[in-house]
Amino acid sequence: MHEIPSRPVAITRVVAETPSIRTFFFSEPFPFQAGQFVMVWIPGVDEVPMALSSANSITVQKVGDATEALFSLGEGDLLGIKGPLGNGFSPGKRVLAIAGGIGAAPLLPLAAAGQATTFLLGARTAEELVFAGTLAGCTDCRVATDDGSRGYHGFVTGLLAGLDLSAYDSICVCGPEGMMNAVLRMLDAAGAAARGQFSLHRYMKCGIGLCGSCCIDPAGLCVCRDGPVFSGSALLESEFGSYSRDASGRKKKI
Ligand SMILES: Cc1cc2nc3c(=O)[nH]c(=O)nc-3n(C[C@H](O)[C@H](O)[C@H](O)COP(=O)(O)OP(=O)(O)OC[C@H]3O[C@@H](n4cnc5c(N)ncnc54)[C@H](O)[C@@H]3O)c2cc1C
Repeated sequence: MHEIPSRPVAITRVVAETPSIRTFFFSEPFPFQAGQFVMVWIPGVDEVPMALSSANSITVQKVGDATEALFSLGEGDLLGIKGPLGNGFSPGKRVLAIAGGIGAAPLLPLAAAGQATTFLLGARTAEELVFAGTLAGCTDCRVATDDGSRGYHGFVTGLLAGLDLSAYDSICVCGPEGMMNAVLRMLDAAGAAARGQFSLHRYMKCGIGLCGSCCIDPAGLCVCRDGPVFSGSALLESEFGSYSRDASGRKKKI
């Protein structure tokens, strides 16, 4: 397998989306399909997978060492971008997008391109809602917060329960795996699992199918090489929603 080169780009703008989430715009666009990701090299620190939230941006939640280092960077600082990688979403004519937290990042480009008929956006609190204003301007965006501080009081699955799924050709989902698993079980109960497309955020090291950190049993699917987007039917009988792997490869319960 050939090594994919990392292209140096300069950060041109940083936008604070929520207290823990920022969008980093960079100097070069990367033609992509919504749902594809890039490996982002933070010089001297680490290389981590991030979905493209537009052709020249990533939207990042601060969770650990690499993302904290990224948050210390600003205009003019350099990053290395490898990609776009992976398969992305295959939207039909009528698309239902369902996002939990930072899961809105790979789904934003669908809405921005006018490809999301309905968008369900969930977060823990009103201030942690990402892109709510932008989404309201380009799609029918319905909001849920765990604490009821904005929109529907409860999980995004509560909003989903009120929709007629037969109105949608594809249901594109990204968020914490527990939330996506709850959505998958609801789609399955409605006979709609095959119309579901789930973007997985598994722990990943190489991004090109070599290290096995992001593989899903029993089929041995690699999120980086075979995904990150998988159909609901491919996930139904897998470890999805039950356990994942940490940095050392050890299984951990979800
Ligand atoms: C295809 C893909 C697309 C992604 N897109 C985005 C995105 O657009 N925006 C964004 O903020 N994040 C995204 N992620 C997750 C992101 O890669 C991780 O948050 C990041 O690697 C964490 O690095 P860290 O060193 O800051 O944290 P670490 O110190 O590595 O980890 C801190 C905590 O985050 C957890 N964690 C680490 N990596 C992941 C992961 N891949 N998924 C879930 N939890 C993880 C760890 O278990 C730990 O609890 C994506 C992941 C994948 C696989």
